[in-house]
Amino acid sequence: KRNGRNNFFIYCDELHHETQQKNLLEKEIKFALQNDQFLVYYQPQICPSNNKVKGMEALVRWDHPSRGILGPSEFLSIAEELNLIGSIGEWVLKTACIQLKSWQVKYGLADNDMSISVNLSSLQLQDMNLIESVSRIVSESGLSSHCLELEITESSIIHSPETIATRLHQLDEMKIKLALDDFGTGYSSIEHLHLFPIHSLKIDKSFIFAYKQKRAQDRVLQAMIKFAKYLGLSVIAEGVETDEQLDFCLSQGCDLVQGYYYSKPICALEFETKYFET
Ligand code: C2E
Ligand code: CA
Ligand code: CA
Ligand code: CA
Repeated sequence: KRNGRNNFFIYCDELHHETQQKNLLEKEIKFALQNDQFLVYYQPQICPSNNKVKGMEALVRWDHPSRGILGPSEFLSIAEELNLIGSIGEWVLKTACIQLKSWQVKYGLADNDMSISVNLSSLQLQDMNLIESVSRIVSESGLSSHCLELEITESSIIHSPETIATRLHQLDEMKIKLALDDFGTGYSSIEHLHLFPIHSLKIDKSFIFAYKQKRAQDRVLQAMIKFAKYLGLSVIAEGVETDEQLDFCLSQGCDLVQGYYYSKPICALEFETKYFET
């Protein structure tokens, strides 16, 4: 009994501590949004048959004043819980569109040369104002809408497929491309692929990591790529780190490859130096 009582106090204490931490983080995230502490890193998406950079994925980072550069795993789920993901997402979208537009101007790129991919969280997809805000952000940036690809996950579709389908068709009508991210994990459903105007499939990196480790999974991987190509979708392999994985992607006809083999996500300046100033 005495122990139980102690546990109770410890539990309360922890709960209290957790709440305090969350409150602090909420203040910090709001402050970060107002004070430009978020950054967008870019990771190239490369055509493996000619090594040309055809696009880049925008990935958010937080340049935290005392903790250094933080990755999304350290703040995105909390931001989602605190209902701040929409503001972060809009900021990332805006920054990414403006960035690509400015590279197009500075380096004389044609619209078809390179696209930018931005992740949409499931909460953003459920937001009634999504279409309005995307359309405003894109037009204010001056970027042609077909240079933008939005990445969504299957799990964010299954919540309310009808509403989401309408929204995705509106984006499609605006000429924005849609990619299904983390394909092969969780709720893979063939249904999604013909119900939704999806342009490309991003094979989840777990399949690429497992390549040659798990025979059975390799067959699933091959079948997924064949299937996507059969549906006329563009295939992006994520998480490519080794020569062997790259050769495999090339042999299977993957359209684009994204992974540490070519580059980790890097800041805009580094991306520019590495891919434009050569
Ligand atoms: P994701 O959309 O699947 O993004 C790809 C993740 O895989 C990135 O992690 C990237 O750094 C990592 N990656 C790419 N190539 C390799 C590789 O060869 N090896 C390994 N080990 N990892 C590789 P990151 O930047 O930490 O992002 C994690 C997740 O956070 C993203 O997964 C995405 O779900 C989410 N995220 C990132 N930025 C945003 C954003 O602006 N908005 C939203 N809603 N989610 C975001
Ligand atoms: Ca993604
Ligand atoms: Ca992914
Ligand atoms: Ca993911």
